Amino acid sequence: MPEKIVTALIMAAGSGTRFGGDTPKQFQLIAGLAPVRRVLNSFRQHPQISSVGIVVAQQDLALLKDVLETDAPDFIIEGGAARQISVLNGLEAITALKPLPTHVLIHDAARPIIPANIIDELLIALKDHDAAVPVIPLWDTLSTTIDGNLAGDIPRDGVVARQTPQAFRFAPILAAHREFKNSPKTDDISLAKLAGLSVHLTQGSPLLHKLTTEDDKALLERLFHSSAIPLSGTGYDVHRFGPGDKVTLCGIPIPYHQGLEGHSDADVAMHALTDAILGAIGEGDIGQHFPPSDAKWKGAASSIFLKHAVELVKRQNGHITNVDVTIVCERPKISPYSGAMREALMPILGLPKNRINIKATTSEKLGFTGRSEGIAAMASATIIVWQ
Ligand code: MG
Repeated sequence: MPEKIVTALIMAAGSGTRFGGDTPKQFQLIAGLAPVRRVLNSFRQHPQISSVGIVVAQQDLALLKDVLETDAPDFIIEGGAARQISVLNGLEAITALKPLPTHVLIHDAARPIIPANIIDELLIALKDHDAAVPVIPLWDTLSTTIDGNLAGDIPRDGVVARQTPQAFRFAPILAAHREFKNSPKTDDISLAKLAGLSVHLTQGSPLLHKLTTEDDKALLERLFHSSAIPLSGTGYDVHRFGPGDKVTLCGIPIPYHQGLEGHSDADVAMHALTDAILGAIGEGDIGQHFPPSDAKWKGAASSIFLKHAVELVKRQNGHITNVDVTIVCERPKISPYSGAMREALMPILGLPKNRINIKATTSEKLGFTGRSEGIAAMASATIIVWQ
């Protein structure tokens, strides 16, 4: 038996806009991130999943790339007129992957939360079965209705709701989709049953909640906020004065009779801020991501470093809530520029002005900053991640 190679297929080709707006729900921001991006990140973070593909409608391709920003799946494939056609397109695209995946998870992007243990249990089930699906019991009393009136009761014993991700051995589910492409079903487990595959039920979760209506959006927003974990990080940096006619602090050039020495643009404040963000998410420090030994960062704008740190936050499904920067020097005077610095940081951090604080202090002519040999900067950042 070859080693298990698992790929995940994210179905994002739907056009559901039931809660308003022109944007399909999988691309709308919920607590700062689009569902499709959360799902991509969740699969990426699972150690047993080696590749991720997204199926998207041709007209939403630009929108998808927009909400993913720098995150990218291993492949993107165009969907079809119906979900089942879209899944088949995705499965056919997987046949081109090398090495060929042995197993596939098929997931609807409208379910933005995927607890890792759900994936664990599905993959364990595939050792003995062709397919596995998470299910939850229904606790409400079920009825049929006719024209808005009660018609009859449905016994809820033995009734479960099927969720996604649904997991399959790759070859049999591909064969089932090819064989039954003209038998429309609402999920892939239905096709698996039709093809006679063995299906195992695993424990589903209310957390796999499907985004359908405006109320679902409100519920998911509350879930994200109630499961938020705050992380904080600090950063500190120093650059020495050298020849020059300006210093760059938080992206703003400030005229001065000296410059700051450094490999990049020596933006000491932005470096401290970048380190604070990297510190909060356990991503080391700026030097590990952009080694000073690498010639390509010579003279680079430090906004490149900060943007990278912000992207790493999003890759962890995180959200920066505020930053605070302190610049320590006798001269130049910082306060006339602090407003412009905050404005320069706003688009990079995706924060409003009142969540970005810039302050400056002297060190009372003590120490290296007091002797005006250089500028020091400290920063802190608070980041929320949703589990
Ligand atoms: Mg530095």
